[in-house]
Amino acid sequence: MTAHSNIYPTKALQEIDAAHHWHPFSDMKSLNEEGSRIVTSADGVWISDSDGKKILDGMAGLWCVQVGHGRKEIADAVNRQMNELAYYNTFFKTTHPPAIALSEKLAKLAPDHINTVFYCSSGSEANDTVFRMVRTYWDKMCKPDKKVIIGRWNGYHGSTLAGTSLGGMKAMHAQGDLPVSGVHHIDQPYWFGEGQDMSPEEFGVLAARKLEEAIDEIGEDKIAAFIAEPIQGAGGVIIPPATYWPEMRRILEERDILFVSDEVICGFGRLGEWFGSTHFGVKPDLMPIAKGLTSGYLPMGGVLVSDRVADGLMNSGDDFNHGYTYSGHPVCATAALANLEIIEREGLVDRVKNDIGPYLQERWLRLGDHPLVGEARMTGLMGALELVPDKTDLKKTFPDTGTVGTICRDISFQNSMVMRAVRDSMIISPPLVLSHEEADFLVKSAEKTLNDTFQTLKKDGWLG
Ligand SMILES: *Cc1c(COP(=O)(O)O)cnc(C)c1O
Repeated sequence: MTAHSNIYPTKALQEIDAAHHWHPFSDMKSLNEEGSRIVTSADGVWISDSDGKKILDGMAGLWCVQVGHGRKEIADAVNRQMNELAYYNTFFKTTHPPAIALSEKLAKLAPDHINTVFYCSSGSEANDTVFRMVRTYWDKMCKPDKKVIIGRWNGYHGSTLAGTSLGGMKAMHAQGDLPVSGVHHIDQPYWFGEGQDMSPEEFGVLAARKLEEAIDEIGEDKIAAFIAEPIQGAGGVIIPPATYWPEMRRILEERDILFVSDEVICGFGRLGEWFGSTHFGVKPDLMPIAKGLTSGYLPMGGVLVSDRVADGLMNSGDDFNHGYTYSGHPVCATAALANLEIIEREGLVDRVKNDIGPYLQERWLRLGDHPLVGEARMTGLMGALELVPDKTDLKKTFPDTGTVGTICRDISFQNSMVMRAVRDSMIISPPLVLSHEEADFLVKSAEKTLNDTFQTLKKDGWLG
C-alpha cells in the first residue's frame, strides 16, 4: 500500500498497523485487540478519521498545532524550500538562510536577555541539550562540582535518557533504570491532588520552598540547575497556585543556580504570552522549545539561551561538543518561520490572552458544577477536569486510577471531541485558532461526555 491509500477499509488498515507498527506509550496488546483510530486528514481544529467521522481536536494534536491543521502557506513554504535547499548541515562553519532568519526571529520573540538558539529536532533532544549545557556551563565557570539538576515529580521533559531522568514520571523511570545519576526530584505544586489540607495559597508557597529545602540539603555549590514546566502538561495540566511562581522567583533570584523553563508546551502563545515563564513573571536562563515552534508541521526543537549562559559557554574558546545532524534543518526552520508568521499576523498570542482564552475559560470552569467534577481549571488554553466519585469529599478518588479517565476519554471520542485522560482527570489544549462557535461545541461536547460518563459509571457501580 502507499501512504495515501485510503482505498483500504478501516479494518484492513488496522490489521496492517497491528502487525507492524509499535506505537509510543501504548499497551500494544490491548491496542491491537481494539484497533487504532486512523486519522486521514485535518482542517482547522477538526480531524477526520478513516470512517469519515469529524472530531474536534481538543488537544491540538499533541499540544502542538497552534495555528490549526491544513495551513496551505506552511505547506507551500516548505515545498519551495525543499526545492531550493532540502538539507545542509550547520556543523563545520556552515549555515543557511532559513536557520539565520529563524534565529533572528526567535531572538526577537524571546525576553530581552535571551538572544541565542541551539537547534535540535524535538523537545526531548532539547532537554538532552540542556543537560549537557548546564553542566558544561559550570565547568567553564570553574565550578565543576555544580552538577545536580533538580526536577519535579510528575514533571515531563521528554522520553530520551535525559528527558526521562529530568522528568518525574515513576512509570517511565521504572523502565531502563532511570533517572541517571545527579538528578533530584522535588514535589509538584499539585494542590487538588496533594495539598487539600491547606489553602491553595499556603500550599503554593510550601511547594515552592521544596526547592529551597533541596538546595540547602544538597548544597548550592553542587547544584547546576532547576528545571520546570510553567504549567505541567503531560502530568495533567497542573496549574500551580497563584503564590507558587512568585515564591519560586524569590528563591531563584537568591540562589546561584540556573533556571530552565521547559517551554515545549507553554511556549508560542499557549498561555497568552510568547512564553509561559513570561506569563508567570519568572526569568529563565534556558528555555527548551519544540511543539508549537512549528505547530507540528515538521519536527523541530531548540534551546533558547540567555546571554549569561551564552557568554560563559559559547564564548569560552572551546567547542561545545554537542549537536545533531538535523540541527537547524532548513526545511523545518522554514516551517517554523511560516508558522510564527501566522501566529504574529493573526495575533494569536493576544487572542489567547484577551479573546478566546477568557471566553473558553469562563465556560470550561462552569463544568466544575457537574456532579462528576471535583475541580475545573484552565489557564490560557490549557484546561483540566478532575473526575471524582463523591463531590462532597474531594479527597476521595476512584479505585484503579486511570480506568474512569479512559472510559471518559473513549466517550469523548464518540461525542466528536478529543480530550485526553491523565489518571482520572480530563485535559484539553486546543489550537489557538479555535473560534467562539468551536469553543461552544467543545464545551457542549465535554458536558455531554460528563453526563454519559456519569450514567455509565452509575450503571456499572462506580459511584456507590
Ligand atoms: C512533549 C514535551 C517534551 C518532549 O518533546 P518531544 O518532542 O516529544 O521529544 C518535553 N517537555 C515538555 C514540557 C513536553 O510537553
